Amino acid sequence: MKIAFIGLGNMGGGMAANLVKAGHEVQAFDLSADALARAGENGCKTFTTVPEAVAGADAVVTMLPNGAIVKRVYTADVIGKAPKGALFLDCSTIDVATAREVAALAVAAGHDMVDAPVSGGIAAANGGTLTFMVGGSAATFERAKAVLEPMAKAVIHAGEIGAGQVAKMCNNMLLAIHMIGTCEALALAEKAGLDPQKFYEISSKSTGYCWSLNDYTPAPGVGATSPADNGYAGGFAAALMLKDLKLAMEGAASAGANVPMGEHAKAIYEAFVEAGGGGKDFGAIYETL
Ligand code: NAD
Repeated sequence: MKIAFIGLGNMGGGMAANLVKAGHEVQAFDLSADALARAGENGCKTFTTVPEAVAGADAVVTMLPNGAIVKRVYTADVIGKAPKGALFLDCSTIDVATAREVAALAVAAGHDMVDAPVSGGIAAANGGTLTFMVGGSAATFERAKAVLEPMAKAVIHAGEIGAGQVAKMCNNMLLAIHMIGTCEALALAEKAGLDPQKFYEISSKSTGYCWSLNDYTPAPGVGATSPADNGYAGGFAAALMLKDLKLAMEGAASAGANVPMGEHAKAIYEAFVEAGGGGKDFGAIYETL
């Protein structure tokens, strides 16, 4: 397939490379010359404008920072420039309303579109082991699967358009909450006189088990290896978690959902980012406790 790929940053760079490895012809564009050059080294054909990159494409994949940029790129340079019938897949994490709005414009112009945000960080993007949560009709999902599979550990149909972004915001709100809870429990265990490693051994096999504790233990030298063992460098930046929590709180407000723990998690990450922690892994909340 001829696949246009727009947005070749930390995530998109590795994803585009995996499409090349799967035998697709990848037509790449990014505003950053460095990102574009790296894509070229990975076997993508590089272009200096979006309309050139999407010309003749069977599918267009976008992996961009936010909803405003996604909307601008599609309305200005993708819809009406890509061939009629080309499939659009937006893998960025954006707000549900923008995902639905852009898809409606794409469909009106004769395209199929899915929202297909991902779970898994840069390592999963590079390794082709992302989980995609896909919103779109059943028929469009089947088309999208063929494009997504070389980048994926799992490709799951969440429901109609926008459902992928709903799944993503709910997942990451839950992740933020259990990460903060895990940090609190580890810190409390230690302060109350229990070796945190002992606490990990017990709770990871008890009802306290969760991904943050079992697989990504946020206390240095305790439990599973995580960025905590490396000064909280790399991993999933607290600033990105804050972005996702803001999307979740917007989504909750427009759905009329009550999310007190989500609100509290957002306030905690907001304070952490304002204090300069935005570049650290999101498990660094442990340091504040
Ligand atoms: P990034 O900032 O590294 O990459 C974004 C890329 O988009 C950059 O290379 C930038 O130059 C490019 N870009 C910006 N505006 C553009 C435009 N108008 N046209 C073309 N290119 C443009 O970000 P990332 O970490 O790769 O994240 C991308 C998306 O994936 C975000 O929505 C993020 O929330 C989501 N996400 C990230 C992670 C993660 O761990 N980094 C995990 C899951 C989901």
